Amino acid sequence: MARQNVQSPLDHNHGSVSHTSCDHNHAHQCLDISGPAIPMGNSHVHRSEGYVLYEHGHAHYYQALSGPSIPLENGWHVHNWNFYTSFDKGHRHQVSGVDMPAPGI
Ligand SMILES: [Zn+2]
Ligand SMILES: [Zn+2]
Repeated sequence: MARQNVQSPLDHNHGSVSHTSCDHNHAHQCLDISGPAIPMGNSHVHRSEGYVLYEHGHAHYYQALSGPSIPLENGWHVHNWNFYTSFDKGHRHQVSGVDMPAPGI
């Protein structure tokens, strides 16, 4: 029997554990919890802001918007993220990848 596609509640969010790109011979851990869903078209996106981990004597700030919901086979969904951190100490980093799944689509 086909699984029904259940709409995710708008107050759901996503976590992610990733690393920034390597620039100036270092990367930072990026541990993020996104904001709630923002309806967009027939999908939704998430906003997020915060700081990457303070490592190598500095941190970076970021504000980001996810891509639309990407449905998974089990009825959950993820989002793609691709953004740049703030420019500090002569460099910035890129963060990209998918976040952790949340129930619904
Ligand atoms: Zn979502
Ligand atoms: Zn850095």
